[in-house]
Amino acid sequence: MNPKDLPPPTEALRINGERLWDSLMTLARIGGTDKGGVCRLALTELDRQGRDLVVGWARDAGLSITVDQIGNVFMRRPGRNNSLPPVMTGSHIDTQPTGGKFDGNYGVLAGLEVVRTLNDHGIQTEAPIEVAFWTNEEGSRFVPVMMGSGVFAGAFTLEHAYAATDTEGKSVKDELTRIGYVGSEVPGQHPIGAYFETHIEQGPVLEDNDKTIGVVSAVLGIRWYDCTVTGMEAHAGPTPMGLRKDALQVATRVMQEVVAIGNRYAPHGRGTVGMVNVHPNSRNVIPGRVKFSMDLRNSTDALVDQMDADIRAYAAQVAAETGLKIEIELVSHYPAQPFHADCVQAVQRAAERLGYSHMPAVSGAGHDAVYMAKLAPTGMIFIPCKDGISHNEIEDAKPEHITAGCNVLLQAMLERAG
Ligand SMILES: [Zn+2]
Repeated sequence: MNPKDLPPPTEALRINGERLWDSLMTLARIGGTDKGGVCRLALTELDRQGRDLVVGWARDAGLSITVDQIGNVFMRRPGRNNSLPPVMTGSHIDTQPTGGKFDGNYGVLAGLEVVRTLNDHGIQTEAPIEVAFWTNEEGSRFVPVMMGSGVFAGAFTLEHAYAATDTEGKSVKDELTRIGYVGSEVPGQHPIGAYFETHIEQGPVLEDNDKTIGVVSAVLGIRWYDCTVTGMEAHAGPTPMGLRKDALQVATRVMQEVVAIGNRYAPHGRGTVGMVNVHPNSRNVIPGRVKFSMDLRNSTDALVDQMDADIRAYAAQVAAETGLKIEIELVSHYPAQPFHADCVQAVQRAAERLGYSHMPAVSGAGHDAVYMAKLAPTGMIFIPCKDGISHNEIEDAKPEHITAGCNVLLQAMLERAG
């Protein structure tokens, strides 16, 4: 055998960046917008076209296709030992109404490019490789978000997901049936040996630090609260300053503290007040009641607990000082999701071997990988996106970063798949 005909050692393997870029641009034409974005909402006719295109490409690459009852699609490349659970990668191809070309789509097509690269070089892995796309990750047309992966992981039932309706009253069940993507497999009845997801960062940290790869260690825990401050409405003229119960003045102190707490718990602490309701919202009335949202996040539940305790203690102190009632109500929470050390290290090792600049990262947004992390060792790979902007038609990423993230995915998957 001519040495040139030997398969290359897998460490020297590189994906075909141009082919991946072309696939991204081709898929982005389905639902492409005038401003260069994509509007391909879950379970629409355009979603069907996008799904059919990706499934067609997968078939061309020799993959076998399985669809489950919530429309999640698994595209499988067999290994030498098919009794092993597959090393899986994936993401979503639905978009926001003003979505971009890369959010989700990159993770799916990067997986396909990994398979195409293995095919090019005739490399067989020990464990099978699978590329998945999950139904309705964005949650724009149907709530809840991350629907397909959520049903798969048992976070909520298939019936609950099926019953969700859009603003026109069309249900997930009917729309999934209409586009022909109700499969027979029971969601979750699909083994996963390990899961990796490649995604644009959707934030500004990598770009700000001039790094190519984010080695994602966790998805931030989130707590949402409503805070209500109750004072007393009174005429803005006759009531002297010392005799007021101004709910807005007290509320703004608590709002400032929410942001201060976010700063205090750097680097991953986040504190946001995004919604304020002032009653009666009249220019010459001292506000009697203010209701506002508080959003606290951090990389571990223990840190979020401390932030929670801090804001409650501060509110109690301000209430005692001013005599106004301050109520804090937790309205929803999502625990922090750490990723598996083995997968996180596999991503880091791959970035190092490939010579890409990298840094530890956390995800402030939810991803399908959050649910997969409850089922199997999971890791994520971030690449920079322009100005950190996503969920926007101007969302953009550089071809060299697209290529780099996919090379890291290839190496990390090969390390797991053997
Ligand atoms: Zn996404």
